[in-house]
Amino acid sequence: MFCPKCGDEYRTGFKRCAACDTDLVEKLVDAREPASFEMVTVLETGDQSLVAVAKSMLEGAGIPCIARNERLQNLFGWGAIGTGFNTAMGPIRLQVLQEDAEAAKELLVSRAPEHSEEDDA
Ligand SMILES: [Zn+2]
Repeated sequence: MFCPKCGDEYRTGFKRCAACDTDLVEKLVDAREPASFEMVTVLETGDQSLVAVAKSMLEGAGIPCIARNERLQNLFGWGAIGTGFNTAMGPIRLQVLQEDAEAAKELLVSRAPEHSEEDDA
């Protein structure tokens, strides 16, 4: 048995948490788990190399992301770059989980080439 409030585990037979005075439950439901995977687009571009760079940046920061192609409406693995990728597929959307969206956008904005102040070419 578990306390849904503080997460303490109790042996079978206990019904209330001594600390919280809360009814115990048989299983803890992880409240942090999103009910549905809400994906947010953080980058949309037809430039596959830009997507690849952004994806590696996000993954390097521990942010899981997927690249979604508009026209095909499915997911594809980036391991296939150079073999099956066709630039005629249309814009690519790089998406992350809603909870990671802010961090992802900050990361991308801070590293985006067009925001570089050294760009005086
Ligand atoms: Zn408790």
